[in-house]
Amino acid sequence: MRLIIYAILAFIIYYLVRGFSKESPKRPDPPPFEGNTSSGKELKRDPVCGTYIPEDTPYRLKYKGQPHYFCSEECLKTFQKQIAEKKE
Ligand SMILES: [Zn+2]
Repeated sequence: MRLIIYAILAFIIYYLVRGFSKESPKRPDPPPFEGNTSSGKELKRDPVCGTYIPEDTPYRLKYKGQPHYFCSEECLKTFQKQIAEKKE
């Protein structure tokens, strides 16, 4: 009887290993490094200080359906303040 249990275990392990090996190619590879930042990446204007920053900046805010981009957390906060003042 033990042999059957081992057989089942081996079967399960086999399927697990197969499943993992199937999944591994799915893992997204980091995109190849692009030498020039001008290709693909758009520059957005910081509405607070007017600096141009790449659109992949972590300081982003969606306002009225439009994404706004900021050079720093300070500018983002300033913009949020401006919005709050406008609402009043
Ligand atoms: Zn700024």
